[in-house]
Amino acid sequence: MDCLFCKIIAGEIPCDKVYEDEQVLAFKDINPLAPVHILVIPKIHIESVAAVDSENSAVVAHIFEVIAKIAKEQDVDKDGFRVVSNCGENGCQSVKHLHFHILGGRRLDATMG
Ligand code: AMP
Ligand code: ZN
Repeated sequence: MDCLFCKIIAGEIPCDKVYEDEQVLAFKDINPLAPVHILVIPKIHIESVAAVDSENSAVVAHIFEVIAKIAKEQDVDKDGFRVVSNCGENGCQSVKHLHFHILGGRRLDATMG
């Protein structure tokens, strides 16, 4: 499948890994928008939030456990951070493999786009 994040999971494209387990991979965004900018992705290919269903939602729940763990490790849990998942055309999703951005380390813009 021609999917950038599937290639990162397969090790065909390198990443700056911050966490990995059997279900999930987390790595630093190549174009960071904040001092902490990490992407958390499921190892199974799910296109976006719009493709989450009862068959695959367990990995999404697990991703949120991982996000909380990474936030603590990156020391942004107390000051706060943002979790974003862009979906589809209007959401400006550029990589069509479900991912959650963790943004922190600075005061973020209050607007939601
Ligand atoms: P989105 O626009 O929500 O689909 O987010 C895709 C994100 O992937 C962007 O923030 C990109 O900077 C990031 N990105 C693209 N290619 C890579 C890569 N090879 N390694 C890490 N992050 C990447
Ligand atoms: Zn993929």
